Amino acid sequence: GKKALIIGSGIAGLAASIRLAVKGYEVAVFEANAYPGGKLSQIEAFGYRFDAGPSLFTEPQLVEELFSLAGKNPGDFFRYQKLDTVCRYFWEDGKRLSAWSDVDRFAEEVETKLGEPAGKVREALKGSAFIYKHLAPLFLERSLHRLSTWTSSKALRTYLKMGQLGLFSTMSQANEQRFDSPKLIQLFNRYATYNGSDPYQTPATLNIIPHLEFGRGAYFPEKGMHDITLSLVELAKSLGVVFHFDSRVEEILVEKGQAVGLVSGGKKFPAELVVNNMDMVNAYRTLLRKQKQPKRLLSQPKSSSALIFYWGVKKVFPELDLHNILFSEDYREEFGHIFKKGTIHHDPTVYINITSVMKPDDAPAGCMNWFTMINVPNNQGQNWDALITEARKNILAKIHRILKTDLEPLIELEQVLDPRTIESRTSSAQGALYGNSSNNRFAAFLRHANFSSEIKNLYFCGGSVHPGGGIPLSLLSAKIACGMVESSK
Ligand code: FAD
Repeated sequence: GKKALIIGSGIAGLAASIRLAVKGYEVAVFEANAYPGGKLSQIEAFGYRFDAGPSLFTEPQLVEELFSLAGKNPGDFFRYQKLDTVCRYFWEDGKRLSAWSDVDRFAEEVETKLGEPAGKVREALKGSAFIYKHLAPLFLERSLHRLSTWTSSKALRTYLKMGQLGLFSTMSQANEQRFDSPKLIQLFNRYATYNGSDPYQTPATLNIIPHLEFGRGAYFPEKGMHDITLSLVELAKSLGVVFHFDSRVEEILVEKGQAVGLVSGGKKFPAELVVNNMDMVNAYRTLLRKQKQPKRLLSQPKSSSALIFYWGVKKVFPELDLHNILFSEDYREEFGHIFKKGTIHHDPTVYINITSVMKPDDAPAGCMNWFTMINVPNNQGQNWDALITEARKNILAKIHRILKTDLEPLIELEQVLDPRTIESRTSSAQGALYGNSSNNRFAAFLRHANFSSEIKNLYFCGGSVHPGGGIPLSLLSAKIACGMVESSK
């Protein structure tokens, strides 16, 4: 059969390997790390297990689809459950709110706790669903770089709705218009961070995101987020995909305008097809350095990054759930620091993800595994050691104020991930979590296509190309890319 080589075993690289194996290709995956999954990996130490990167799981059917394609029953290999509580929110003034996945219950909770009429919440979520219905088929599920996308009947229906899709105001402006409660505005503005953007710059179109959580649902894999990676690796292997770990690719071989293989460890590997899952910017700088560079796309501003403390905590906090947010007092200032000043505000919003709430064996008895994260700017050469020391102090002080507990003496294990290590471990440009930011309304058109217009038989997938970052969009990128590849059978 024909050979397909995949560079990188991130979620999109894994999905591409499965899709091409199903199409009849002989597939090999080259991965620089000793382990698969890229950002979707895990950390194990002293009786604790942490999901290293993504913690929110939406659109599980995109994972299941891969098992079905291979003729298997997804439930036999990968199981997950729907969350009752999407997130618990905490504010400095003692206010607390549970975002129930059930929309009516959530709307009622908002009315009781924040005084905003339940009807307005339901209305806002309907608006979210409207954007999803009109944009997903066009902007998320197809290539934007093929004429047929723009001349389809779906496209026509979307053009007619353009005015209502929020391209001409910011996310925050839209939320300020529909809600009075500053806390509710903050809660809805937070969705900009789901793709590493700034609610005060990103178009209101991004109000599509709450629909993913409330309309389509938030889930948790029974064995943790990392099981998405492990299950897909198993599936790929069962289809004959070969994995080369500790095998960094140095170059994509191009002859007469056509990809003909790659170089790894100084050795040439020929192929009929190459799929790149490495961050697009770094791929052009290294693997494709001899080729024409798409300058405009390479210079697009990147999404934010993250600072994460993985803490083994010797106490159980019954008020905490799987997803928890301790909100900052001045959200605008916080984002100004991240996106304009390139630094960290002294009062950051703290996200605490605790998988041991769902999966008790992720922490020893009487303990919890805290994935404690704040949004930070991408790496522009800041003095990270100093910023991290300062941020750690501020995070602990905030936890003390809001949860009334001095956490420091309860921390028995600590590991840290910052923009520099995100970059070095996954080759993501500037340690950005989601490739380009969506801070301007043309962002969707300034992502690299899922194929190369210069080099035949070279395809692109992953969070740095169309349609964008996050697990669902990365999976869709592989679907779009492989959809363009002819079957080898
Ligand atoms: P990546 O995960 O970026 O992996 C790329 C792989 O390619 C790596 O394994 C790398 O080693 C390998 N590679 C790179 N260069 C080479 C080379 N030259 N040769 C060989 N191998 C190479 N998404 C969500 O949906 N929900 C969340 O809650 C969420 N939270 C996040 C939190 C954090 C802290 C982070 C870091 C990300 C989060 N994301 C979340 C985003 C999500 O993780 C990514 O969008 C997604 O995992 C990207 O997948 P990818 O296929 O682009 O590959």
